[in-house]
Amino acid sequence: MKKITDLQGTFELHNGVQMPYFGLGVYLSKDGNEVIHAVKDALDYGYRHIDTAAIYHNEEGVGTGIKESSVERKDVFLVSKVWNTDQGYDSTLKAFDASLDRLGTDYLDLYLIHWPKGEKSKETWKALERLYKEKRVRSIGVSNFLQHHLEDLLTSAEIVPMVNQMEFHPYLVQQKLVDFCASKGIQYEAWSPLMQGNIFDLDVMKDLAAKYKKTIAQIVLRWDLQKGVVTIPKSSKKERIVANADLFDFEISDADVQLLDSLDRGKRFGPDPDNFDF
Ligand code: NAD
Repeated sequence: MKKITDLQGTFELHNGVQMPYFGLGVYLSKDGNEVIHAVKDALDYGYRHIDTAAIYHNEEGVGTGIKESSVERKDVFLVSKVWNTDQGYDSTLKAFDASLDRLGTDYLDLYLIHWPKGEKSKETWKALERLYKEKRVRSIGVSNFLQHHLEDLLTSAEIVPMVNQMEFHPYLVQQKLVDFCASKGIQYEAWSPLMQGNIFDLDVMKDLAAKYKKTIAQIVLRWDLQKGVVTIPKSSKKERIVANADLFDFEISDADVQLLDSLDRGKRFGPDPDNFDF
């Protein structure tokens, strides 16, 4: 098991960059006050990693939240993603500049291809490699890439992606993909770690929460970290942002990690990377 210490602890990417393993997701956090406060509250509390995307239409607010927080830009691990309609070499370079403008920064810590788009993603990847070589981004990666998407990308990639951000929770573990990524040195990262709110209805989670005297969110997010998976739960409410991160004072037993693993039923709450129409 990788060492889990505190809210600012990191996993090391294959290029040596330290990625804070716990971050704030901001999908559906509205641009303006809502996302500004979420980002500011999270950073002021101790979060050091913010996950946005061009398609979330809140990059400006994220940038403002960082500036209004007590934390310096250099101490924040800032992630954005190139949207599907911007994929391709030149259009990705432009989309990256536009994201930086909106975020009010001159570099990103991680830039991801949001979804696999066949051959086009190979051109997109070339653009990300260029941005990386030009030191405009500290690390580059993908999202929603299944093993065959990764294998295809790797036939032409010069740089192996540092991260793969995937839907991941007890109903969608995809352990084979997790292991494949590990074998290539690709850090696995969980999106929708709370099953978009559905995790709170599971009896098995209620039982574990009672057993460990922690909340359901803390249990499942701690399981992510113990499995070596970066996690980015979303909330725009200060109490939840604070409570979700209160998981560094306990450990889930190996048996209970396995219990959570065993809930896997291949169930998605988001789109299927092999069958989506956007
Ligand atoms: P999530 O699993 O983080 O769940 C968020 C929901 O849970 C929200 O409705 C929130 O209000 C609620 N919630 C949070 N903490 C709670 C608590 N303590 N008690 C009760 N309810 C609580 O879902 P998500 O937003 O889909 O995923 C997290 C992040 O992952 C996103 O914000 C985004 O940054 C990223 N993401 C990436 C992709 C991708 O394609 N790469 C797709 C979806 C999400």
